[in-house]
Amino acid sequence: PRSPPPPHVVLVASPCAGHVMPMAELARRLVAFHGCAATLVTFSGLAASLDAQSAAVAASLPASSVAAVTLPEVTLDDVPAGANIATLIFELVRRSLPNLRQFLRSIGGGVAALVPDFFCGVVLDLAVELGVPGYLFLPPNVASLACMRRLVELHDGAAPGEYRDFSDPLHLAGDVTISVADLPIEFLDRSNPVFGQLIDEGRRHRRADGFLVNSFAEMEPTIVEDFKKAAAEGAFPPVYPVGPFVRSSSDEPGESACLEWLDRQPAGSVVFVSFGSAGMLSVEQTRELAAGLEMSGHRFLWVVRMPSHDGESYDFGTDHRNNDDDPLAWLPDGFLERTSGRGLAVASWAPQVRVLSHPATAAFVSHCGWNSVLESVSAGVPMVAWPLYAEQKVNAAILTEVAGVALRPAAARGGGDGVVTREEVAAAVRELMDPGEKGSAARRRAREMQAAAARARSPGGASHRELDEVAGKWKQTNRAPYE
Ligand code: UDP
Repeated sequence: PRSPPPPHVVLVASPCAGHVMPMAELARRLVAFHGCAATLVTFSGLAASLDAQSAAVAASLPASSVAAVTLPEVTLDDVPAGANIATLIFELVRRSLPNLRQFLRSIGGGVAALVPDFFCGVVLDLAVELGVPGYLFLPPNVASLACMRRLVELHDGAAPGEYRDFSDPLHLAGDVTISVADLPIEFLDRSNPVFGQLIDEGRRHRRADGFLVNSFAEMEPTIVEDFKKAAAEGAFPPVYPVGPFVRSSSDEPGESACLEWLDRQPAGSVVFVSFGSAGMLSVEQTRELAAGLEMSGHRFLWVVRMPSHDGESYDFGTDHRNNDDDPLAWLPDGFLERTSGRGLAVASWAPQVRVLSHPATAAFVSHCGWNSVLESVSAGVPMVAWPLYAEQKVNAAILTEVAGVALRPAAARGGGDGVVTREEVAAAVRELMDPGEKGSAARRRAREMQAAAARARSPGGASHRELDEVAGKWKQTNRAPYE
């Protein structure tokens, strides 16, 4: 009998750089190491900047092995102005389902598995309809999934229409707890429209065939263990930590003003400061950060984004701000001149994977977006955790309390909504750069986690084996039509 073709896995990525990038990496690995064929499906029409990010990631895929498909635009014009980005994405995906169904039916040879990411959970319903396995991909960690699971348990365990509050701190697994103030704010406010959407998503999670998580067991061992136990007892679908997926530095331009500048700095002397693809600080906070970097006396490379004027901590480009605005214009007067030679401020974007793996880079002041975290860990760079939105406070808690690779200023803790003062910025940077006891411990842990991450994703490593196990299941379910 002829040998069966590789199982064709269709990955469905919502339109944020932080989701499309790790899914592209997952697709690549499924093809390169696990005997699968893969197609990456993306969306369009939410915002030009997001479309451009998705298109750039799709274009970077090896065309000979991973196919890329963009679904046609659907209208979102009737969604109320000011809707949360999560609401917009959930709606975009829901309205795109007919197009996705049509695409899946058009694939010759069938689909062995559907792998939507967190915002595309509704695709799990389509998997059931088509009779194919559905695995949810989580760009962040297993801890975030544990929080989701608790939210839904509390909601559905209460009398109808009621919801019991989280006990504080919330127990996640073993001796790991998380302060309620570190949960995403949408979890805490039942009047927030996203709250109900998260409950719906969390209920859907129970019907998934499994979860692929962009994390690795050594990063959050107790929580991973807890899910393994739950799966063995049939209490929750299996969770497979299969990361870290970090894009290769060869996907980034090799030449830029940042890299040229870094080349001229001594090894291990620079603090990299960045708040991801969307993070925003207030005008006052931008000023304090500038003063703190100046006060620290250390070299720095700061990716400056436009400040927020309305208290929002992110801007995914969906509200059509003026792209011609210059973020550097918001830096304090004379700051660039005074720090000239030891500091570089660049507007909006830097080739982050290259920056983090550059020998001059020694520490990272980060908003704790999970991709940024994994990039930092993979480069062995300790962090100052400065979470802003989404699940970033959960990430910060795991980094400081469990993995031990970051320091967190008091004002950047859950409930600490105040401004991180210049003194706190300078103190955190100095603790890592002229390491005191805590800084030395974080540096040591960062090196240990770097080695653990490399082990996990190497052939035969824990994450590699987990993905192999899942691909093995897909090969089995795939066999029938070809026998
Ligand atoms: N990124 C980058 N340059 C920048 C800002 C961000 O290359 O100046 C990349 C970063 O390397 C990461 C992604 O954008 O891979 C951001 O994802 P993350 O999960 O850290 O945060 P998000 O932007 O989704 O909040």
